[in-house]
Amino acid sequence: MHRVYLDNNATTPVLPEVFEAMRPFFGERFGNASSIHHHGQETRAAVEDARESVAELLGCTAPEIVFTSGGTESDNLAIAGWVAAGDHVITSSIEHHAVLHACKHLEELGCEVSILPVDGRGLINPEDVRRALRRNTKLISVMMANNETGVLQPIEEIGKIARDAQILFHTDGVQAAAKVRVNVGQIGCDALSISGHKIHAAQGVGALYVKKGTRIQPLFHGGRHERSRRAGTENVPGIVGLGRAAQLAKEALDRDDDEQMAALRDRLEQGILAHVNEAGVNGEGAPRIPNTTNIHFDHIQGESLVIALDLKGLAVSTGAACSSGAIEPSHVLIAMGLGPVQARASIRFSLGKQSSQADIDFALALVPECVARLRTLSPRYTKQAVSL
Ligand code: PLP
Repeated sequence: MHRVYLDNNATTPVLPEVFEAMRPFFGERFGNASSIHHHGQETRAAVEDARESVAELLGCTAPEIVFTSGGTESDNLAIAGWVAAGDHVITSSIEHHAVLHACKHLEELGCEVSILPVDGRGLINPEDVRRALRRNTKLISVMMANNETGVLQPIEEIGKIARDAQILFHTDGVQAAAKVRVNVGQIGCDALSISGHKIHAAQGVGALYVKKGTRIQPLFHGGRHERSRRAGTENVPGIVGLGRAAQLAKEALDRDDDEQMAALRDRLEQGILAHVNEAGVNGEGAPRIPNTTNIHFDHIQGESLVIALDLKGLAVSTGAACSSGAIEPSHVLIAMGLGPVQARASIRFSLGKQSSQADIDFALALVPECVARLRTLSPRYTKQAVSL
């Protein structure tokens, strides 16, 4: 069966160039990067090259990069690494669970947490951040781009508020990195998380930018890896792949490939809206990363549409992969003011570097037809249609 994958915010395929860069490190170049002999030195050099590439993508220096096991660990390290009982943290209602649940855990340990609302477009108001500041505020953690809607947050303004108040600022850049230009100096953050598998590197590797001079408590205790910020033998193939993916992402952004991606996404979005009534974009009117659109198709269940499309070869999602299958509607869409029924009727389409015009044609041929078929099965929809 012909299959098209438009769920790149869940995970992306490893690019062939990335896989080729990783390959030797599963075989002949197997050394432990902490060993002082030839094998160790060879892998150490590869890890440090990768660190340079990731630093270049984020606009920082190589020693400011800590390699981790992915976005979840990076988020947890930034939060738990700085906050202790009695401290206050400010975050938002649309964060990934890697941030929200880390903050919830801190609350159980005696921290105070303020969770800020968003408006109907999914945007945080920086003034709310300023108003939430307290005498004991230690950290602000607000994401760069939301994983479900793609909405980009006003993080430079939030960064300025944090700087003026001399409070640490972490941003989850997992869905923004490689899709838009990220410069930690411009953002004014003290920490920024990225994840390999969202940028066409492997699953199980990521990084945290930690600003020079900011001490962070490690999550793991052990050896002095990663300048004592993350103990454990490095995942060398994963790190090498992340470095190569960062290089390719930087080259693509320098070529303005993001504009082509946005054009493809817009064609998909407009094509769907032209052929499906009672549907709309969640986050419309807000700045968004170029690869994501989240659309509510009223009178259907999102899960049913995901299954119907999958049976025809199109992979999309109802939102965060980890909550797919759960009955609760997306916390992000609910925070934006959608009712539970409309939130459950929403679908995320997310493009990757491999996505083509033909993929969009395929989706455009399927989505209106599947929505129409599901609606004929929906008692609410048919009742409304009859009464019109
Ligand atoms: N943060 C955001 C915004 C995400 O979208 C994800 C994954 O979906 C994560 C964090 C977690 O990243 P990882 O899957 O690498 O642990």
